[in-house]
Amino acid sequence: MERFDTIVVGAGVSGLTAARLLARAGRRVVVVEARDRTGGRVHTDRTDGRVTDLGASWIHGIEDSAVHAATQAFGMRTVEFTVGGYQPDSRPIAYYGPDGVRLTDAQAQTSIADIHAVDATLFDVVAESAPDASYLDVTDEAVARQGWDAERAARVREYMQHRSEEQYGAWIADLAAHGLDDDSIDGDEVVFPDGYDLLPTNLAQGLDVRLSHVVSRVAWSADGVVVTTDHGEFTGADAVVTVPVGVLQSSAFAIDPPLPEPNASALGRLTMNAFEKVFLRFETKFWDDGVYAIRQQGPEGVWWHSWYDLTALHGTPTLLTFAAGPAAIATRSWPVEDIADSVLSQLRRLYGDRVEQPTHVDVTRWQDDPFSHGSYAYMTVGSTTDDHEVIATPVGGVLHLAGEATWTDDPATVTAAMLSGHRAAERVLGRSVAIEELWAD
Ligand SMILES: Cc1cc2nc3c(=O)[nH]c(=O)nc-3n(C[C@H](O)[C@H](O)[C@H](O)COP(=O)(O)OP(=O)(O)OC[C@H]3O[C@@H](n4cnc5c(N)ncnc54)[C@H](O)[C@@H]3O)c2cc1C
Repeated sequence: MERFDTIVVGAGVSGLTAARLLARAGRRVVVVEARDRTGGRVHTDRTDGRVTDLGASWIHGIEDSAVHAATQAFGMRTVEFTVGGYQPDSRPIAYYGPDGVRLTDAQAQTSIADIHAVDATLFDVVAESAPDASYLDVTDEAVARQGWDAERAARVREYMQHRSEEQYGAWIADLAAHGLDDDSIDGDEVVFPDGYDLLPTNLAQGLDVRLSHVVSRVAWSADGVVVTTDHGEFTGADAVVTVPVGVLQSSAFAIDPPLPEPNASALGRLTMNAFEKVFLRFETKFWDDGVYAIRQQGPEGVWWHSWYDLTALHGTPTLLTFAAGPAAIATRSWPVEDIADSVLSQLRRLYGDRVEQPTHVDVTRWQDDPFSHGSYAYMTVGSTTDDHEVIATPVGGVLHLAGEATWTDDPATVTAAMLSGHRAAERVLGRSVAIEELWAD
């Protein structure tokens, strides 16, 4: 049995952040990781030279962003791509109406103004909402207050539904009314042409990371922690556990004794989502020039409504769309070809025969991943935004939970992962630590 000061479970951005800060502070730290790689849900595929971020790709706002500061310090190249937060505007977007015909600029502006009008009302409606209200309840109420005819109301309702799916991978009636409260973006958004995984790769430099170590049990007591893996046991004075909500809630991962209150109830109010990326690479570009994204309105767009033009990022004509919420659940077991055909049939409504067969398609399968059980966590109806940080309430002075779902301000992001790892390190050390320590020489 190996003995350490701190055992960190999980080599994603949160675990690596905690481990790096603790190691720099002089503690003897080991990171145990189930996968054969670091990065967790930041995962870049480089098959045949194609760089594809299968997990996170965006920094949703680079202003005052610790993640951005770290990526800059590590010399990572970025490309500006500012509609990653399902914004209706701020960058050029080609809108297509329910009949498949591109809206004129004036028509698009009317649609966008309607969305902003509902968003302005939504702020108050959410604030006044009942504890068990869903995002569907509050968006329906905010639309109803506009007094519009059915068609006009339907367009905005459908936008709200798609926003809930694209931002949280959740059906709008399953997401808490407050589930998108954190949805603010400060500054431009950026993506990474050389792959986002350069961030965790840099964070892991110099750390003792044990890959392919699947943890099944974390036992804690006043004496410290014992972490059981399929390669033996590790003991430590304390542990930072960063596995996703889906793993914490699974029977394959035990905390012993079980998480106490208030952690346990707060954890029970979050759940993993259904959210997959679909990348389509083509020989030639057939879609509109000068736009960041393509959006299709109306019932035909119930699954496939938004495509992001990643040509500038990948150097080859590429569209990214998402199977999110119900679409991800329905297509979970479909072969890649069937998913591609379904997406292409919608693109052909808009662009006709110009749509050629893709040269390459990538579809993610995060729902089937035993080390995440989905892409990220969302707030189920009845939860409060505080539930995120309540999950991380220190347990017995020796056990600290961290990870994207434990950060209230901006959960479900790399930022949340990093800041929660920072908080865990500070709690273990019992003092504050500058986040800049993470990328200092
Ligand atoms: C498809 C997709 C798109 C996304 N897009 C964005 C985006 O554009 N921008 C953004 O900011 N965020 C995005 N995210 C979210 C972001 O990737 C996550 O919030 C963040 O990476 C989570 O980091 P973490 O350290 O909390 O968890 P993880 O990265 O999941 O790290 C936890 C680690 O624990 C390991 N683990 C699990 N079980 C065990 C076990 N039993 N034993 C040992 N180790 C175990 C896992 O393998 C993993 O390495 C996206 C995520 C996905 C999946």
